[in-house]
Amino acid sequence: MIEEALGGVYVHLPFCPYICPYCDFAKWPLRRSDALRYLTALHREIAAADRRPAENIFLGGGTPNAYDAASIVDLLARLRERFPAVDSAREITIEVNPDAVRPGDMDAYARAGINRLSIGVQSFRESESRALGRRHSNADVERCVRDARAAGIRSLSVDLIFALPGQSEASWIESLDAAIALGVDHCSTYGLTIEAGTPFERLYSRAPERFADEELEARLYEIAMDRLSEAGFAQYEISNFARPGHMSRHNANYWRNGSYLGLGVGAASYLDGERSTATRSLAEYMDAIERGEPAPRERERLLGLARLGEAMMLALRTAQGVDASAFNQRYGIDPLATYASTIAGFIEAGVLERSDEHLRLTRRGRLLANTVCGAFVTIE
Ligand code: SF4
Repeated sequence: MIEEALGGVYVHLPFCPYICPYCDFAKWPLRRSDALRYLTALHREIAAADRRPAENIFLGGGTPNAYDAASIVDLLARLRERFPAVDSAREITIEVNPDAVRPGDMDAYARAGINRLSIGVQSFRESESRALGRRHSNADVERCVRDARAAGIRSLSVDLIFALPGQSEASWIESLDAAIALGVDHCSTYGLTIEAGTPFERLYSRAPERFADEELEARLYEIAMDRLSEAGFAQYEISNFARPGHMSRHNANYWRNGSYLGLGVGAASYLDGERSTATRSLAEYMDAIERGEPAPRERERLLGLARLGEAMMLALRTAQGVDASAFNQRYGIDPLATYASTIAGFIEAGVLERSDEHLRLTRRGRLLANTVCGAFVTIE
């Protein structure tokens, strides 16, 4: 029997040389003994997984390049053996922190088949970068891009954050223009979220005036849409912009509600209609794997309207939007009839637009995307 291919494999590498005060990811300060023990556990988890072809592989974190290049090359060899490629266009991405890149890393990555780099820049204004707790300089980013290009890595992406404390329209334009001038192929832009339990939450509760209000945040987002589209990037998802041929295949699979396997602490999977998330406790993850057991996971099976609502929320994030007949075929429910009154209300409010069988966010809808897309998840 030929196994159905996975849309993606996500591998979480959770250690960081330093911890940023806004971050809510599953991450820990880099300690050599923990990092080695974790990598061994990950190798065991990979070896125990069902052998199955996978369209894309994504090494995320944390800071994956907190590990040396030899460890990354070895990890990829194990992943490629367990999850063979479906076609030659397979995308293999690694997230990197620019100040942790060492000479020779990019050549090693390229030889190991990595063809996409996601660079955590956040801001090109160094004062904003410092406020975020980041330690890299713009020169580190430039060197990272130069090394990656020289090594032949095909697709380069930068992450930028807007609505930062003290950020102005001018400084945001400066960051966008710097990314464009670097010649990267892809840009992800996220509005800063104040996450519970982070140092930024405490800072926000003491001095909310230091953070952008909703109005400024919306203006900054509009600036990103305009600036990047003028520079030849297509906005293919609410937060993601790509030059032709550089859309992230791995992320597109999430928005298509495709299958993926998550490996490592806190990693999420979506397999055979079941969503599951591995424990976010590092000790619990490593202890279970060392006992020869799978990592403890929280599981949830979405059925009927819950599954359709989730798929609507994901698809509406994309420029393509919802193709109602394809949805009807896949989920056995007609979304245009099921959500007729909600859709009519959103069209009336100017946040959704419909052409034949397609439903999309308008430009105004993109500004209110969380509310509009989120509405479909709560309908029962
Ligand atoms: S480098 Fe990334 S994952 Fe690590 S603490 Fe900073 S934001 Fe979080």
